Amino acid sequence: MTIISHKPFHIGIAGAGLLGRLIALNCLQRGFHVTLFDQDAKDGEEAAGLTAAGMLAPFAELETAESSILISGKRSIQLWPSLLKLLSIEEAFKQKGSLVTAHHADQADLTHFVTQLRSKVDLAGQIKTLNRSDIEQLEPELTAFSSGYFFPNEGHINGHVFMETCRQFLANHPNVTWHALTTVSEVAEGTIKTVNQKYPFDHVFDSRGAGAKDGIKGLRGVRGEVFWLDAPAVNLSRPIRLMHPRYRIYIVPRPNHRYVIGASEIESEDRSGMSVRSSLELLSAAYSVHPGFGEARIVKMLTNCRPALENNLPKVEQSTRKTVINGLYRHGYLLAPAIVEEALTIFD
Ligand SMILES: Cc1cc2nc3c(=O)[nH]c(=O)nc-3n(C[C@H](O)[C@H](O)[C@H](O)COP(=O)(O)OP(=O)(O)OC[C@H]3O[C@@H](n4cnc5c(N)ncnc54)[C@H](O)[C@@H]3O)c2cc1C
Repeated sequence: MTIISHKPFHIGIAGAGLLGRLIALNCLQRGFHVTLFDQDAKDGEEAAGLTAAGMLAPFAELETAESSILISGKRSIQLWPSLLKLLSIEEAFKQKGSLVTAHHADQADLTHFVTQLRSKVDLAGQIKTLNRSDIEQLEPELTAFSSGYFFPNEGHINGHVFMETCRQFLANHPNVTWHALTTVSEVAEGTIKTVNQKYPFDHVFDSRGAGAKDGIKGLRGVRGEVFWLDAPAVNLSRPIRLMHPRYRIYIVPRPNHRYVIGASEIESEDRSGMSVRSSLELLSAAYSVHPGFGEARIVKMLTNCRPALENNLPKVEQSTRKTVINGLYRHGYLLAPAIVEEALTIFD
């Protein structure tokens, strides 16, 4: 649906996190001028997009999500390579599939997980069942597991590299103005208001994530904690999920033997440091997957809040001169490129 008749040329974006940066990139590709507002410093670490592990798991996430995320997720996996090419960081995206497994005592959780997926989509038939030797062929150092499942089309992205490179690209772009350390108090039709000023635009986007609670009913933050570990003794090439009755983890590889171990999921907006309980659970589970994590070094412990709505699904609301996108929950990297692409068709 085309809801505007003239071509807007100056776009205001409230929130320069994951969504805000993607919207800006897409608008620049259309030749628009862009003004970003963010309450954080340009190189600040407030955005959830800087905490995310960057898993692109449209199938494995279906256990707890609606099947609608599958279509957008698959589209985003198609879009990421060209977005990263714009920034000359193609290597930040990998599509090597992902592996889900469980220890012997927790086989019931693994079976339940896959049964849930298969009941949601026929496409889940593409999930491959693995025995011990299949697992070792894919990941030779995963010797503790006798069964698992492989999701061949899933991917992962180095979100930190994307956020940082995109920040530099936007900050140096002649058609971009970036108001850092500037809190937006309201996003209205064609207008972004800060405490001191009102800025008019041809079209505005509200992409403030969990910071948009004043304007979006039912928006909440869902606390998540991750570790960054340097583990020279560990060689894993794709995301590994461990099923467990109480705590589940994923291990996402980054270059140079760095791994992101995540993530807790707690119904709380508390952004204080990682709890002892979460750290014990995440690290013990990682160590149980690969003993090489025993000698890993802790590089970072990060806490942030996923922006979520009551149904944990994303929401896009568009009117003539304003678009609100929020509720990306635990699927920002998985869904944002497709959602932004669709939202920007109003300019076609
Ligand atoms: C621990 C954890 C792990 C995750 N792992 C994954 C994963 O593996 N795969 C995946 O797809 N997704 C993952 N996510 C989810 C993903 O990070 C989010 O869905 C995504 O970052 C949401 O993007 P956003 O742009 O809406 O919000 P954000 O990235 O949080 O950006 C919001 C921006 O708005 C700014 N802002 C807020 N309020 C204001 C205001 N009033 N004025 C001005 N600026 C404001 C903030 O400073 C911030 O820069 C994870 C999230 C967490 C926390």
